[in-house]
Amino acid sequence: MQAVLTGKLRRPILAPPMATRSASFDAIILRAKEVPSGARVVTLLSADEGIVEAFVFGGGKSKLRSLASPWYFGKAWIYRDASRGLVKLTDFDAVREYPGIRADLPSIAAASFASEFMAATSALGGDWADALSLCADFLSALDEASGRGEPEATARALALFAMRALELMGLSPDGDECSACAGALRRDTLHSYSRRTGGFLCARCAASENDAVALPAGALAWLEAAAARSFGDAVRVGLGRDALSALKACALDLARKAADAPLRTLDSGLL
Ligand SMILES: [Zn+2]
Repeated sequence: MQAVLTGKLRRPILAPPMATRSASFDAIILRAKEVPSGARVVTLLSADEGIVEAFVFGGGKSKLRSLASPWYFGKAWIYRDASRGLVKLTDFDAVREYPGIRADLPSIAAASFASEFMAATSALGGDWADALSLCADFLSALDEASGRGEPEATARALALFAMRALELMGLSPDGDECSACAGALRRDTLHSYSRRTGGFLCARCAASENDAVALPAGALAWLEAAAARSFGDAVRVGLGRDALSALKACALDLARKAADAPLRTLDSGLL
């Protein structure tokens, strides 16, 4: 290890080991939990470091502790002490707070799903910047939908979040080929989603599958229209009730299959 002599003290001062360092980055707080010691552990999603878990110390009334709560987007300052195995959130400057989400149960459920999915897939398997940007778009859309009292927009945002997350992971189902018979699919033959294969079915195969989710033409047209729009603009495009319900069922089933671990939020009954 390199030693440095100072003129004044005449004794060697060890250069600081790399075991401790500080970093700051843009992040969304995905979730927070209290640990038995009374400290809080937050899970952060960042473009620079992916998923980061960090301790937040300080009493229940500390400003940092109140900001270190789910679905704040801002700049996080992290201190790492590798020798003690400690990662600490030392400051957080919230830029977006999405207050509408915390005031609306379906939005809380949808945002909780996003948090769990991001953590379970290690931020979509490595596309951290895209994961952060998708998550921020989703939270904005939920905040807006809740502010306007539009539960259907919340559901559209949820389905779109799952579909875009799968796309970023390279796990979107093939829209050109039936997942059962490998026959070509066109808009007029694509008929259903199969929970068994995790793919789309042609009309003929759908007829012999018990548990298929029928996809109304409106659902496919909406997905096509959504692909050409920003997340926020796509969510504002309306969709019939049946089509929305089918699309959501399909998107959440695909999300369940894409995560390595069971997703508790999908079993909560709130989505
Ligand atoms: Zn088929």
